Amino acid sequence: MTDLIDRSGLAKRFWEKKPLTKLNQKEWEALCDGCGKCCLNKLEDEDSGEVALTRVACRLLDDATCLCAQYDIRHNFVPECIVLKPSNLDTHAYWMPQTCAYRLLWEGKPLPDWHPLLTGDPDSVHDAGVSIKGWTVSEFETPEEDWEDHIIEEPI
Ligand code: SF4
Ligand code: SF4
Repeated sequence: MTDLIDRSGLAKRFWEKKPLTKLNQKEWEALCDGCGKCCLNKLEDEDSGEVALTRVACRLLDDATCLCAQYDIRHNFVPECIVLKPSNLDTHAYWMPQTCAYRLLWEGKPLPDWHPLLTGDPDSVHDAGVSIKGWTVSEFETPEEDWEDHIIEEPI
């Protein structure tokens, strides 16, 4: 599959050489592995603060490509969708999926060996079985009171 994220012309292992706050926009975007898991609906326990991912997908998530179907105009449909940036990562890292590259680097951990930046292959995230490809359910067809039945075990 063509890599829809532009990872061309980047310095080798740039993420190990500079902090997240010093990355340029292209480097920042290239860190996304394309797993799609940040677009799953989550349940947060008010008391413990624990976050559980569910297989209930945001209405705009295409689980064939694992991408947002309307990324550029998504806020017209999903105003609450977060624009993740170095300046707000501290606030959001706790609910990001455990395999998310932004969360891993924020936690001081390395990228996994299936990450497209390391393999050079955008499909490696799907081949490793860590993306949402083909296993989500629609939020339109799944009432919120049933989301608990769709909690997934991380890491996947
Ligand atoms: S969870 Fe992280 S790595 Fe996966 S699609 Fe979302 S931002 Fe990208
Ligand atoms: S609007 Fe798009 S980017 Fe935002 S959560 Fe939904 S699918 Fe993901």
